[in-house]
Amino acid sequence: MNEQLKLLIELQEIDTTILSVADKIESLPGKLEQYKAPFKESSNAFQKLKTQLEALNKNKKNKELEAEEIQEKVNKLKTRSKEIKTNKEYEAFLKEIEGYEKEKFRIEDEILSIMENIEAFTKNLQKEEVKLMKTEDDFKQQEKAVDEDKAKLHAEMETYKTKRKEFVAQVNSDIYEQYMNLLKRSGGLAVVQTRNEICLGCNTNIPPQQYNDIKKNESMFNCYFCKRFLYYKEQ
Ligand SMILES: [Zn+2]
Repeated sequence: MNEQLKLLIELQEIDTTILSVADKIESLPGKLEQYKAPFKESSNAFQKLKTQLEALNKNKKNKELEAEEIQEKVNKLKTRSKEIKTNKEYEAFLKEIEGYEKEKFRIEDEILSIMENIEAFTKNLQKEEVKLMKTEDDFKQQEKAVDEDKAKLHAEMETYKTKRKEFVAQVNSDIYEQYMNLLKRSGGLAVVQTRNEICLGCNTNIPPQQYNDIKKNESMFNCYFCKRFLYYKEQ
């Protein structure tokens, strides 16, 4: 086989691998983001429940203060009971106390209802916390795996780049220039196989006589349509 052609075929193999490794490296942040989604979702749900629970607790505290204030009013009223002189005054006094007591009961009912909610929300929060810890754990593991992949891929990349340099040093500079232009222009594929009188880079037919020459792999041929370097590989 033509020595330069042989080098180009190997160079193309290395470049194809380098491009594929680069693709894999590029896909890692997206992958990580994808792995992060359940953790993020769980974290949001947990935070939402926590905020709701805090609001309930605050509401409960306000209601308790309200009930205390009413109780203080009742206590104050009761200390003044000795000053009551007439029945009418006494009736008014009882009515006022009754009004306050009613208000207090209403607030205490509300507090009970809030406490029930707090209990339910606390249970949910505990469940969500377990879920959050699990999703966080899962994500940390996936993150570790992605980091390991990244290190492995970068190491692979370095190996291929070193190997590439060795090949490039042996390729004729004109051919290399042509190869690089093709590689950039033709989607990372500058050297392609031919089969059944067809260029496998662009599926264009190759004239039979030229195809016979290409099959020998003794000279450099370019596809007249896509300009890629052509070679033949026994099936
Ligand atoms: Zn072609």
